[in-house]
Amino acid sequence: MPERVTVGNATASRGELQKGVIKGIELNTTTPIDIPVLVMNGAKDGPTLLMVSTQHGIEIQGIEVILKIMREKVNPKELRGAIIGIPVENPLAFMHHQYLSWIDNLDLGGGGSASPLTADQPHGASTERLAHALWKEAWSKADMVLNIHCNVRPDSLFFTEINVGNPSTRERLERMARVFGVTNVVENITIKKNAPDTLTNLAVKNGVPDILIELIDGRWISEPSTSVGVRGVLNIMKEFDMIDGPIEPQKSVPIIQGVCTGHGIVRADRGGLIRFKKTPGEFMKKGTVFAEIYDLYGDVLEEVTCPVDGYIWAYPCGDILGTPGSLQAVQAGANIAYAFTSDEHQ
Ligand SMILES: [Zn+2]
Repeated sequence: MPERVTVGNATASRGELQKGVIKGIELNTTTPIDIPVLVMNGAKDGPTLLMVSTQHGIEIQGIEVILKIMREKVNPKELRGAIIGIPVENPLAFMHHQYLSWIDNLDLGGGGSASPLTADQPHGASTERLAHALWKEAWSKADMVLNIHCNVRPDSLFFTEINVGNPSTRERLERMARVFGVTNVVENITIKKNAPDTLTNLAVKNGVPDILIELIDGRWISEPSTSVGVRGVLNIMKEFDMIDGPIEPQKSVPIIQGVCTGHGIVRADRGGLIRFKKTPGEFMKKGTVFAEIYDLYGDVLEEVTCPVDGYIWAYPCGDILGTPGSLQAVQAGANIAYAFTSDEHQ
């Protein structure tokens, strides 16, 4: 661990917590849009953990998790290694309560697009510049990344998602997911050298494990998201010997055991309001009706069925303007549910 850890204009000496900003972009008013950052440099050597939240501007629970960890739970004098905390990765989305950047409608992390936004464009569009600044100042300095997102509804399942397709990060990702302790969805996609340089792909190419953490009730700061998030992050820090203490199992939230695999998005064929008949985490046989779409006269237009013997992890409802969960109403083609399977329940 170096004597000083610098991210943006924040520099923390050993045993210190400092705050500052990563320089972002400038609006047409010349108002700067910078990215707030907290930097904690431990008294002793160890890995550098990066926690990021609010890549999507309406997913705010991770902000509270990061602040609790860095302002209350971890004492820099007892920390081995360093923590970089970025409560709002995309201020251009957060400032307008939007999922994506209001200024160019882009996703900082490169999600949801056939040609994803990459972090290698310092002279690119506004959001591309933010991604590049985040890579240069924070992601490239990390040994581990906790990428905290949220589903919208409070009945969603907590889950982590890891990609085990790269041998250089697989073992650490599996340890991170195991000790975080909620439902874990496993992808197995090898990120090749020529894959687009999104933040997550760059992490893989640099041998840095990057775990996706999905909390729930994402538009609010509420329980149980805070407790589950804080407990899981502290468990990862204990597992990698950054702090002392026993791993604490997650409790009081539904957890689907086994190796889980995403099955894809269930979409609406009709438009209208939607009501849900099953709770996320409830096991369903293929063909089970879990939702109904109905019109403004109350007539049911479509019974929505589970596409596989498995589960739903969340109901995003009607996505509009790139924002899942805008309203419990759908158009044909809207995302209704995320389905998955577990190898322990077939
Ligand atoms: Zn998200």
